[in-house]
Amino acid sequence: MIGVDVGGTKILAGVVDREGRVLRRHMSESPVTAEPDVLAALEGQIAALLDDSVAAIGVGIPANLERGTGRVTRATNLPLTDLDVAGHVRDRFGLPVGIENDAGAATLAEWRLGAGRGTSNLVLLTLGTGVGGGVVVDGALYRGWAEVGHMVVVTGGPPCQGACHGRGHLEALASGSAADRAAQELWGAGADARLLVERARKGDDAALAVLREIAGYLGAAIGSLANLFDPEVVVVGGGFGDAAADLLLEPAQEAARAEALAPADERLRVVGAELGAEAGLVGAALVGFEALDGVR
Ligand SMILES: [Zn+2]
Repeated sequence: MIGVDVGGTKILAGVVDREGRVLRRHMSESPVTAEPDVLAALEGQIAALLDDSVAAIGVGIPANLERGTGRVTRATNLPLTDLDVAGHVRDRFGLPVGIENDAGAATLAEWRLGAGRGTSNLVLLTLGTGVGGGVVVDGALYRGWAEVGHMVVVTGGPPCQGACHGRGHLEALASGSAADRAAQELWGAGADARLLVERARKGDDAALAVLREIAGYLGAAIGSLANLFDPEVVVVGGGFGDAAADLLLEPAQEAARAEALAPADERLRVVGAELGAEAGLVGAALVGFEALDGVR
């Protein structure tokens, strides 16, 4: 299987087997200029890895997809609007092609092969530049909107990022970007989330207070998600989520249990993601396997 994780800054492709092992990799910059450039770059990555052993292709993309058809309706950081990306790739290479929102693909990977192995109900949250995520309900990935980063955590709170006009959303309060801003308020323009985590580990009171606050917001959101979906486990990943896991997850679990209804108030588990930056790539490949196996 070739899995392709199309990101806003880079396109990561790999040949992945059924056990999720990445056998070969290829990477390039993401063109942000125009639609044909994005398609050309995506197809270039696939062509670079393609050989007779490849049976199908899976694509993870930071975009809203039309349910049922998989057509891209709108992309977040790429110049793609109303385009059948999977159809283009299928026509070019003559192989089955699956496509999924990038956060959905990462959710599939953590559920099948990572921290959520063996569960039937799971929520994934990725804390990076933004906050993304996905939901597995009754043993299947929820394929619709799962914009968990845009849950309101503080009514009338700080404005959200990018094209979102809401306020007090989880993304504005618990993303890596939010941690960057908090660090800059404490120590000036050069500071970032990495410094915040580093100083908190050394016992810096201001840094610890900021991370406690972030964990509180994260826990409030997780508590609400627990009350909606009753997940067996909530997996937290993403660049910032992975880097700060030892400082965030335990207080977030405590805050979540304080909001969750019984029995989740005692047994809800919040754990770190296991697949790191490769979750998107491996998840894209799993989407390709689904297309090959006719699961969707
Ligand atoms: Zn928002």
